[in-house]
Amino acid sequence: MEKKRIYLSSPTMNGLEQDYIQEAFDTNWVAPLGPNVNEFEREMAAYVGVSYGSALISGTAAIHLALKAVGIKRGDVVFCSSLTFAATCNPIMYEGGIPVFIDCEEDSWNMDPKALEKAFAKYKDVKAVIVVNLYGTPAKLDEILSICNAHKVPLIEDAAESLGATYGGKQTGSFGRFGIFSFNGNKIITTSGGGMLVSEDKAMIDKARFWATQAREKELHYEHKEIGYNYRMSNIVAGIGRGQLKSLDEFKERKKWIYNRYKEALGDIKDISMNPIPEGCEPNYWLSCITIDDNSKVKPLDILMALEKENIEARPIWKPMHLQPVYKDCDFISMVEDPLGVSGKIFNKGVCLPSDIKNTEEDMERIIEIVRRLFESR
Ligand SMILES: *Cc1c(COP(=O)(O)O)cnc(C)c1O
Repeated sequence: MEKKRIYLSSPTMNGLEQDYIQEAFDTNWVAPLGPNVNEFEREMAAYVGVSYGSALISGTAAIHLALKAVGIKRGDVVFCSSLTFAATCNPIMYEGGIPVFIDCEEDSWNMDPKALEKAFAKYKDVKAVIVVNLYGTPAKLDEILSICNAHKVPLIEDAAESLGATYGGKQTGSFGRFGIFSFNGNKIITTSGGGMLVSEDKAMIDKARFWATQAREKELHYEHKEIGYNYRMSNIVAGIGRGQLKSLDEFKERKKWIYNRYKEALGDIKDISMNPIPEGCEPNYWLSCITIDDNSKVKPLDILMALEKENIEARPIWKPMHLQPVYKDCDFISMVEDPLGVSGKIFNKGVCLPSDIKNTEEDMERIIEIVRRLFESR
């Protein structure tokens, strides 16, 4: 019989979601907009510690609207973390912008402030910086923000993976002019699919809502002066989000337990390192990752294949954007000579281990045993 499937990061429902959905059905708010949307926006903003939020169909849509809000035009340069998921930078292309990819640093896997400085020395006219908090670990947000401020360039914080993580005690997503979150199925909380744009700027959040609702002017008839989108989250989906948000702190604890369980169980294998956690921050531990020394006999692919054979889902690290065929003509700024950059090296030697909230001690032992056996047998 096939062994029980263990997932990388699958949805974990707590039951409360159903109550909010039922309420929407009972009151016939089976509609875009409605009380769940308003409340979810309010509850998220309160959790993150910002004043305003706009619930959208995806994190990608939130990044797109953040770029529109900072006034992106065709030909504008946008600095962006290279080690990330394509959703971070694709919206730059939707608007005809020019992404310039910034390498990461070893100690956080996030945008290297020194490389960011270097990029500002090369490019004079920059529209925005998009920084990612990879796998739930905050970037050096203070440093990055002060570099952006010195150059008077707005920061957009892609906190899609880091909801609930803090840097210097402050929630990620609250540092930049705009923060974005994702509620995709694999994220720490999910609405099946969805996203949120947050900001202190009420006028801009209102504007984002306007764009997200087909840019329909406040007229009795259908009047349009701008191009809009159909990006708003529905009242049913927002109900799932309200239920999920109630479990966020518990989910974070669970993810942290998983990270520490791997660290303790794999710590004595000298070829293995866990994804680093810099001082002064508390990640949400969305995914636990390892890197394997270049000269180890065990390769990342061996681990992925050995786990898959036992019906366990693991994944490679995100392939950096500067190494993607579709972005091959884009500039890449790094502090190292190697064209791979630090990000390319992490990609080559890394693996994301199963970090599912529902992982039991027994599941963890199954995973750990498979990984350990690979290193012991070579
Ligand atoms: C998931 C993710 C997104 C996109 O979110 P969607 O809701 O799937 O559109 C953006 N950036 C990063 C880093 C992500 O992991």
